[in-house]
Amino acid sequence: MPTVLSCPLCSSKNVSLIHKGVRDNSDIDVYICQDCNIKFLSKFNHNDYEAGFMHLSTNTAKLSPQEHLKLCEEDDERRYQMTKKECSSRNVLDFGCGFGGYLSRIQAVSDYCAGVELGHEEREYLNSKGITCKREIDEYEEKFDVITLFHVLEHLEAPQLWLQKIALHMRWGGRLIIEVPNADDALLTLYENKAFADFTYWSAHLILYTEETLKRMILSTGKFRPVRLDFYQRYPLANHLYWLAQGKPGGQHVFNIFNEPALSEAYNKVLKTEKLSDTIYQIWERV
Ligand SMILES: [Zn+2]
Repeated sequence: MPTVLSCPLCSSKNVSLIHKGVRDNSDIDVYICQDCNIKFLSKFNHNDYEAGFMHLSTNTAKLSPQEHLKLCEEDDERRYQMTKKECSSRNVLDFGCGFGGYLSRIQAVSDYCAGVELGHEEREYLNSKGITCKREIDEYEEKFDVITLFHVLEHLEAPQLWLQKIALHMRWGGRLIIEVPNADDALLTLYENKAFADFTYWSAHLILYTEETLKRMILSTGKFRPVRLDFYQRYPLANHLYWLAQGKPGGQHVFNIFNEPALSEAYNKVLKTEKLSDTIYQIWERV
């Protein structure tokens, strides 16, 4: 008997298959809800985050904390620059903090910062560096001024419940800062690049958000008010051209003749205006 799927956002059964298989599991498909437009996987597999799922390298050998931090360096620094104003002299919690590349930067401007992380090696590493990191958000008794979720929400099976729980740990007027991949990425929706779709759909990204579906998900909790709904482009024009030409990642290192700041800026601006950037960035106020 076929599985009857229902939408994780609006519970509608009016859902359609949009992609067969994901890159690491041919038994998991990608669906879209015809009523609210959210994309989600047919099966929510349990990945072993506790044992370090997020820092396995491609050949399944584990990366050291230093190797993993090096890989995340650019994103950590960008997130620090984007959030340092909101975090200045505040209590900050990074939910799903990994090895703490962001926390080790925000520590310089925040009043206090801490993390939540399922991976036990990550927690041990951070605590050894003097940054408090716990497995569960409920282990914290204090309320935070800022809670950040960088590429975390798309991994969560019941995002509304998690957002409710997070809201309980925030003070009134506090800021929730969320970054997720954009399900309306130009490579998927404008260029309809098959190779990219085969590559980007992944068993760990259970629910895939657009600006609208993320907004609807967060508003449904009744705990937050939007402050800033924005986009960011992580991968440059050269990366997109290479996907279109060769169907492979890493084009920013190959077609690097296009890595001209003015060209990138103009291209990224068009993507942002059209809401086709690869990354959604939103700030919400706890109300
Ligand atoms: Zn729906």
